[in-house]
Amino acid sequence: MKKIDTQSLLKKMINAGIECSVNIPTNTGVIQRVCSVDEILLYLEHPRALYALHFDISEGDYAQCVAEEYSVKCAGITVKGFACQATVKGGFCVSPTEWAAMKGQYCEIHGDADY
Ligand SMILES: [Zn+2]
Repeated sequence: MKKIDTQSLLKKMINAGIECSVNIPTNTGVIQRVCSVDEILLYLEHPRALYALHFDISEGDYAQCVAEEYSVKCAGITVKGFACQATVKGGFCVSPTEWAAMKGQYCEIHGDADY
């Protein structure tokens, strides 16, 4: 077999009907995404960029969503000056897309405060 670059090999495989899928981590486990050549190349270099692309959110939001275990933390500050650790209403174990849409909201205590 002659030497062939990765992109050409992937194109050849996909044109031949071979599917390449990636397991995307999410709040309910993993989602399988069948990838294009460009997406495979992106994933090989930078997996989190593909995860963020899958959910149509920024990489920063994806990383923070995973770090916060798929729960949206309140954006409020406690009376002692710490970031509130409460989860916003309906923000427990949500998908990364939902997480990105809900970030910056407040818990039931801080939601009533004047900001
Ligand atoms: Zn709060």
